[in-house]
Amino acid sequence: MSTKSFPWFTHSVIYRTIEVSVKYTTKSPLRIGSEKGKSPTSSVDLQVITMNINGTEVPFIPGSSLKGVFRSSSEFIARSYGIRACMMGEGCKNDYDLDLQRFMKSGDVDSIINTLSKYCLTCKIFGSASYYSHISFSDAYPKNQVPRRGVKTGIAIDRRSGAVKKGALYTVEFVMPGSEFEGSIRFYNLPNYAIGLISTVLNNINLGIIKIGGFKSRGFGTVEVTPKELRGSVLVGSSYESISEKGELLPLDEDDELVKFSNVSEFLEECRRVWINYVRKKHSS
Ligand SMILES: [Zn+2]
Repeated sequence: MSTKSFPWFTHSVIYRTIEVSVKYTTKSPLRIGSEKGKSPTSSVDLQVITMNINGTEVPFIPGSSLKGVFRSSSEFIARSYGIRACMMGEGCKNDYDLDLQRFMKSGDVDSIINTLSKYCLTCKIFGSASYYSHISFSDAYPKNQVPRRGVKTGIAIDRRSGAVKKGALYTVEFVMPGSEFEGSIRFYNLPNYAIGLISTVLNNINLGIIKIGGFKSRGFGTVEVTPKELRGSVLVGSSYESISEKGELLPLDEDDELVKFSNVSEFLEECRRVWINYVRKKHSS
């Protein structure tokens, strides 16, 4: 099978799977709220999300929260460079999902590929209601130590009148600065320029431009993301080879470029260079 018959944005052939393991270190209070609501035994009104590990409630960073941040930030960055990217997949979902479902039902492969090619870049990366994602974020768990939590008191404001609600003090829980979590980001069939876009988001998180979780306007959510290790395999002929042995990744389509690397930081940096070249090509064509 050639790359011509099945472009990377289909899921028909697995050309490459790349995993970057990362460490998230909180540089300010981090608040990712629990969806369960208030536990009757807790004295805090708004708890952070936790997971029960061996009888202890341990805060973690859900992969779904990370995916949300990376998606909205990727869309923003792509648009700021003049690359078509819809908002949280809504545009492409409305325009192409029905066609896609219809062609999938009838098994019309050429029409499926043609429809998928129309989705914007961020939908090709992050997926849509009917279109499987090419990226995944694992939940990030504390490695050695259970992160310490703090509590802040807020004043509830009536949304309609803007006045302080009567007797409405509430308590908000957060994870303390200096807490460490470990997780991973996986790329399935993503071209080097698309990984470069994700790498740009990662850089902006480290610069404090992009924050994670709630209470961002009050200085919460600054996180440092440290890439640790690069693993993965690429399809060469009819078998898979480890990317760390190869030290290079070939272009996946005509807009893509070769990257060479000897470690994970170099890999992410090289992909950012290819992303900028991709933007240039799109503007000159
Ligand atoms: Zn889209």
